[in-house]
Amino acid sequence: MYVQRNGLTLELVEGDITLQDTDAIVNAANSRLAGGGGVDGAIHRRGGPAIMAETDEKYPEGCPTGSAVISGAGRLAAKYVIHAVGPVWSGGSHREPELLACAVERCLELALDSGCRSIAFPAISTGIYGYPRGDAARIVLQVALDFQDRFQGPALIRFVLFDHSAYSDFAEALRELVPQTEG
Ligand code: ADP
Repeated sequence: MYVQRNGLTLELVEGDITLQDTDAIVNAANSRLAGGGGVDGAIHRRGGPAIMAETDEKYPEGCPTGSAVISGAGRLAAKYVIHAVGPVWSGGSHREPELLACAVERCLELALDSGCRSIAFPAISTGIYGYPRGDAARIVLQVALDFQDRFQGPALIRFVLFDHSAYSDFAEALRELVPQTEG
């Protein structure tokens, strides 16, 4: 399913973030950039040790919640991994929506600054971090659409959902935001 406006595409696919051949893929990292389960574990396993070696060297202090840092992508098909630190869900009144939006926006800024024309996101914060998926979907999709409108890029923003139920939640949110969604 996709939305196309002004030559820019936002799309939803069901799949595995580690297999995407976009210029950048986004990792759902933790603030110590210490590796973990879920997306993070899968990216480091498939990408190899070069990714962690680079983040250890460049970002020894880690990365605050609501922000992101960029590294090479080791053996992955992408050129860059952007390590985003989304909020842990703790009820919704601890700035979770704002922190999630800021993390996504920072990823998009880093992608444009590095010359990326395409970027793929997993559903940040909706796994181990417990963010309700429909709410997260509305926030991250709105940020992505607004960013493309403002900066005319990246040309392709793809959300890669790991299973059908995640895809459905994102699809419903995208249809609410953009009724003329196709596919
Ligand atoms: P967080 O700690 O930010 O919640 P997780 O890695 O636990 O991050 O999960 C984020 C989302 O990514 C979850 O919806 C999970 O199902 C999904 N996910 C897990 N592995 C992959 C993968 N290889 N590709 C895409 N999405 C994945």
